This record gives sequence, C-alpha cells and structure tokens, in this order.
Amino acid sequence: MRSGEVSREIDILIRLQEVDNRIRQLTKQIETANIRRENLEQEFEKQATEIRKIQQTHKQANAERLKLEAKMAEVQSHIKRAERNLRNSHNQKEYEAAVREMDSLRKQLSGIETEMLEKIEIIEETEKILKERAEEIEAFEGKKSAALEEFELQLEKDKNELEIKKREKEELISKLTRGTAEVYLRLVNRSKDGIAVAKVVGESCSACFMRVRPQMIVELKRAEKIITCESCTRILYIASVEITA
Ligand SMILES: [Zn+2]
Repeated sequence: MRSGEVSREIDILIRLQEVDNRIRQLTKQIETANIRRENLEQEFEKQATEIRKIQQTHKQANAERLKLEAKMAEVQSHIKRAERNLRNSHNQKEYEAAVREMDSLRKQLSGIETEMLEKIEIIEETEKILKERAEEIEAFEGKKSAALEEFELQLEKDKNELEIKKREKEELISKLTRGTAEVYLRLVNRSKDGIAVAKVVGESCSACFMRVRPQMIVELKRAEKIITCESCTRILYIASVEITA
C-alpha cells in the first residue's frame, strides 16, 4: 500500500477505474441485450429451418391428399351416375354420350390416383425423416430454451452487478477530495474509452503512449500531488514496485 494522502487517493482512483471499466462493460452488455438475444434466436432458427421445411412439406402433402380424396369421391359419384346413364340409355346417341363421359371420368380418376400416390410417397418419406430425427428435434427445443434461459439469467446477473458497481463507484468517489473526484469524473465521462487513470509503463503513459518527462517521473514517485499526462490529461500513476525500485 502507498502512504500519504495522494498515494491513498491514487489507490482509490485505480480501484475506481476498475469499477468504471466494469460499469462500461456491463452497461454495454445490457444495452445490446435485445440484439444479442435476437442473434441467439436466429442462430437456432437457422438450425430449425431444415426441420421446419420437412415438417412443412409433410403438412402440405397431407392437405393436398385430403383435397384429392374429396375430388376422387366426387369423380367416383359421377362415374356411378354415368354408369346409370349408360344402362338406361334409350338410343345410340345417349349411349355414346354416356360412354364418352365414362371415358373422360375414368381418365380423371386415373390422374387423381397418380397424384395421390405421389402425395402418399412424399408423406411417407417425410414421416420417416421426422421419425428418425425426432430425438434431435426434441433435444433442439430443449437446447434452445436452455440457451435462452441462460441468457436471461446472465442479463439479470449483469443488471444486479451493475447496481452494485454503481454503489461502489459512489462510495469510492466519496472517499476522494472534491478536486480529485471532479478531475476523475470529467476524464472518465469525456474520454471515448472511459479511461481516466493511466499507469506509467516504461516511462510512457499507457493510455496515449507519450513519453513522460523524467521530472514528472520523480514527482510521481514523490506522490505529493495528482499528476496528469501532458498529452492526454489522464491521471497518471506509477506501480508501487517501481516507486521503491
Ligand atoms: Zn497520456
């Protein structure tokens, strides 16, 4: 630990910067939650599309089969009527007309039957696939809801942590002198990356990489006042180990 009032403030500022970094991170996570949730759902949607296509094909073939059945029953009843007409025909003209109608109806029926077989084939094929993949389909839904549940849980955790960090920030700020707190807050709110406190690494500011003058290094080690970077104006500090070195 550092000694002296300035050193104590530097320690608080370092901690404050850590808290603010986390606040930024959490705020971003919370702000992007809706879009991230959508992406997650879309990811699952992509996987579900293939199955859904098969289910859709199955459903459609079934519906078409029902329509064909109704049509078939209608044509069959027309055939019966044509048969009656044939039996009851009184002359050659009536007879020929009934035969023509019969022929046409039988052709229609045969066409419907062919279509029907095609539909049945599709139904059987898709049913087979759906049965084979039933476990996968069922597991998929489970995975999806588990992932979404996990997402909501994490979001809730982030929100709680954000509240805690905000309180921690207030507490830390209250421990600083008013002047230092003002400098810190102005910097943290102004800079794009939210960095207000920068460590001096290799005699350079770690935020803007500008060299720190030797005289300032001396002053930093003395820790008699808060020193800011001449280039980026961030509050500078020097690692404790480097002070004693
Ligand atoms: Zn700097």
